[in-house]
Amino acid sequence: MSEWLQCIGCERRFDASEIRYTCECGELLSVERDSMPDRNLFDARLASRKTIDKSGVWRFREAVLNVDESEIVTHPEGSTRLYLRESGVGSRESELTHASSSDARPPTPDTRFPIFFKHEGENPTGSFKDRGMTVAMTQAKRLGARAVACASTGNTSASLAAYAAQAGLRAIVFIPAGKVATGKLAQTLAYGATALHIRGDFDAAMKLVREASDRLGIYLVNSINPFRIEGQKTIVWELLQDLEWNAPDWIVVPAGNLGNTSAFGKALREAFDAGWIAKMPRLASIQATGANPFYRSYADAFAQRHRIAAETIASAIRIGDPVSHHKAVAAIQQTNGIVEQVTDDELMLAKREIDEMGIGCEPASATTLAGVKKLRASGVMREGERIVCVLTGHLLKDTDAIMRNVPPERMIEIDATMDAVESALA
Ligand SMILES: *Cc1c(COP(=O)(O)O)cnc(C)c1O
Ligand SMILES: [Zn+2]
Repeated sequence: MSEWLQCIGCERRFDASEIRYTCECGELLSVERDSMPDRNLFDARLASRKTIDKSGVWRFREAVLNVDESEIVTHPEGSTRLYLRESGVGSRESELTHASSSDARPPTPDTRFPIFFKHEGENPTGSFKDRGMTVAMTQAKRLGARAVACASTGNTSASLAAYAAQAGLRAIVFIPAGKVATGKLAQTLAYGATALHIRGDFDAAMKLVREASDRLGIYLVNSINPFRIEGQKTIVWELLQDLEWNAPDWIVVPAGNLGNTSAFGKALREAFDAGWIAKMPRLASIQATGANPFYRSYADAFAQRHRIAAETIASAIRIGDPVSHHKAVAAIQQTNGIVEQVTDDELMLAKREIDEMGIGCEPASATTLAGVKKLRASGVMREGERIVCVLTGHLLKDTDAIMRNVPPERMIEIDATMDAVESALA
């Protein structure tokens, strides 16, 4: 079996062992291979006790990276749970519209429907980034890198730091100063990374790390690195396997730098072409309205690529110039997918609902449920369709976003007397 890097524009091929993130023509690269295994191989591994079979990434290794087993850097990651819950369109949203508008519209009827949540916050460092990082870090070691770097809104840096510690490589992260959730920064530092706080936004940090990695010979592990995408494909393959390869109608994902949207498109294309699934699910990529360059392009039928200054409470997707734009356009087109946007109020309300299911997620992840509600209400998603939302990060990743919104009746300070307890709970 062979693997190579291929330009998504001019289709020029490069050796997989070359350190390169873009083609001579400037376009992104993807990892391609000449054969795909039968899916029964992956099912057989579910009973295995081997570490690399327990990894939800390396269980699919023949379709991820052609590598000697001894070279793999794994925690292991993946093998996250798929939860079936119920949600609805109605009462909660009208609560929101009533709160924010003066015209008192009657509440819409509460329509309940089942919904799956694939919880990628259950990865070793609390986000899906581990799925790409295990592959990029394995590749970094094979290539003989001594230092690895990324620009990050927090989760990539935490993941990079953990895997670099395991691989024995120096970790350097470029983060927008003052714009990363405290828990993510603490996690990154604790694993031993050096953090460069860039005075600028994520997009400025991204530009700088690309230049720095070229100049200083540091291996770049942002999702511009095509090996990251190979690992992230397994989110989709694992959820298809969880569903016994009965493809859902929709897979819903938050969209920031568009690495995941790109990976999901590639995963679905490959699964369909290999005959692992009989029908193609539709992708729904959801952005925050304050960080919506991809939504704007979609609304123009992808006639233009937009670059904006991004602002949203969902810091993981506060990105105005997504690197994987062209790959993500292909992902939407090839899956008959759509792009939707939701406001910070809508995503925080959806987050509260996911949290109160006892599942929990960080704000960016909740764009999925907020998006589904909007798409159900507008009739794009129909009754009876099976929907899987991918929750990208763990609830504890951003506790500030929670503590700013605790309802006062939930957190009550009282004197240390039984009387006070009784009157507080009355
Ligand atoms: C990185 C991240 C995203 C955005 O994914 P992209 O691949 O950049 O589009 C969404 N949610 C969380 C929690 C993340 O860490
Ligand atoms: Zn090219």
